[in-house]
Parts: sequence; structure tokens; C-alpha cells
Amino acid sequence: MTGSFKINRRALIGSAGMGAIAAPFLLRTNAFAQTAQPQTSMEINHVMPPDTHRFKLGNFEVLVVKDGARPSGKPGETFGTDQTPETVGALLEENFLPKDQFVNSFSPALINTGSDLVLFDTGFGEGGREAGNGRLVEGLAAAGYTPEDVTVVVLTHMHGDHIGGLMEKGKPAFPKARYVFGQVEYDFWTDTKRAGTPAEGGHKAVLANVKPLAEKATFIGDGAEVVPGITAIAAFGHSPGHMIFNVESNDKRLILTADTANHFVLSLQRPDWEVRFDMDKAAAAATRKRVFDMVATDRVAFLGYHMPFPAVGYVEKQETGYRFVPKSYQFDI
Ligand SMILES: [Zn+2]
Repeated sequence: MTGSFKINRRALIGSAGMGAIAAPFLLRTNAFAQTAQPQTSMEINHVMPPDTHRFKLGNFEVLVVKDGARPSGKPGETFGTDQTPETVGALLEENFLPKDQFVNSFSPALINTGSDLVLFDTGFGEGGREAGNGRLVEGLAAAGYTPEDVTVVVLTHMHGDHIGGLMEKGKPAFPKARYVFGQVEYDFWTDTKRAGTPAEGGHKAVLANVKPLAEKATFIGDGAEVVPGITAIAAFGHSPGHMIFNVESNDKRLILTADTANHFVLSLQRPDWEVRFDMDKAAAAATRKRVFDMVATDRVAFLGYHMPFPAVGYVEKQETGYRFVPKSYQFDI
């Protein structure tokens, strides 16, 4: 079975004409009929390269890499925690999604400005590999970049799925980069007052992964320029110092909204609903509405770290929130 699978795959990958494709397909169909064993399980188990997606933004180039994805049950225990699970499930079903499961994906982005390679967030890193995450560096390699090429690493905030990839085997994963950290976020997580609180795990992770890089870091606040064309905007709530970024080149604009919204249906269509991941729920909801009102009003594209890959789209304002419209060819023409 393995043999016939390899033949099929080689024939399909090669520059074969229709005849060459059709022949192994027939072979395979016959094999299926004889054994009545589905062979597709092998294809499903085959480890695929991480998803990458590249597009132009004016004179900049944006590369999105899928660091991984995490399926979870009980959406109502994460999103709409102030609603009944039935209400949450009904909104999911209305949007063609299962009511009792959801998938969260993780999309760091690398922006090539022509003079800098700026990486926004770092995924799970080595700590996530057992679960199939932590694939950022693999994805960068597929797009032709080495970790040494990255000149600036920016953190939107300091939760584990954003800072896990900063260090690799105790050393900086992006050895030639300088860093840009939000001052408020850094001060919160490094404060020893976090010990013995629910933030203790995060505190320890920041001490291990972020603090060792502080001497190569610039600490920023609202309105700071990261590099020409990229400016920080305070968007506190999801975490105490959560930052988003306005990216502009040659009249094209993209807002990196990071974790302002964590689900393309539940967080956008119902921005007021409480989310377990939001550390200050009222502030996070207020920020969500402020940011996505701007995204909708300005009709500008946004890249949301947890949006469905490639994590870029637009929003249309509706009565109770926003409808997510995934990007298609807007940047290709
Ligand atoms: Zn996150």
C-alpha cells in the first residue's frame, strides 16, 4: 500500500500529462476495489509543510506563517463565558461551524520593509512541538529566510503562544535581532508581585524567555515607531499592555490586531461577549469595539494572530458586531 501511494504521489507531483496522471489513478482505484481498504489515511497522516502565505503591501512584503493550531472542545467555556453554552453554540452553527468544538490557530508574521525584516510574535517554539505547534522557523525556511535574517522581533504581548519561540535551547532563536517590547506589558509580567497569583505561570515564562533579551530591547508605548511605516497603538485589555500595529507603505495599509479578537465569529460578531483569555474583560471588549470600528470605518485590512489562516481580512460593521471577510486577491493587483 505504501508503494502504490508513493507512485501516485510522484506521478502527480511530476510534470506528467493527463495520461500519466490517469494511469496510476486507475491502478489505485483497482487496488481499492480489490482490498476494500481505504488508502487515504496515509495521506492524512503525512506531515505537511507549515502553511505560509506571502503578499505585497505597497513596497513591503508580508509573510504569514502558521505556527500551528489547537483544537478544543466546549467553545462556550472560552468565548461568551457570560452567555449560555447554547447561545454560543447557536451562533457557531449559524456560521456553518460545529457548536461543540473549535480550532484556534497561531499566525506570526514577518514584514520585509526593504531595509528590515520585522517579525511580529514568535509562536510556541520548542515547548509546542510535541503538540504539532512551534513551526514558525520551519515556515520561515520554506519561504527562504533563516533565523539570522530577522533584524527586529516585536512582541504584541507576552502570552505563551507569542513568546514561546523567542528562545531555542536556552539561546535566542533570532540571534541577530533587536527587540521591541511594550513597556507596560513587560513591567506587568516581570513584576515579582505576580508570584502566587494566576499570572505566576506567565511571569515565569517571561522571566525565562523575554527578560534575557531585555538589554537588546527598545521599550515602547502608544504611538511609537518601530521602523519607518510601522507604528504601535495601545490596545490594552486582552493583556495589561497589549499592543497592535499600523503598517503603511505606498498608500497601502494593514493593521496587525494581534489578540484584540480571538475568534473570527464569536469575538467579531459579538465583541461584548466575555472571553476567558482576556485578562481585563471590560477593557478588552471596549478595545475590541474601538479597534474594529476603526478597521470597518477605514475599510482597511487587518491581520489577526488567531484569525483563520492566512489570518488577513476585512470587517463589515453589523448591528451587534462585525462580519469577517477573508482577504482574496486585493493585494495581488
Ligand atoms: Zn494569542
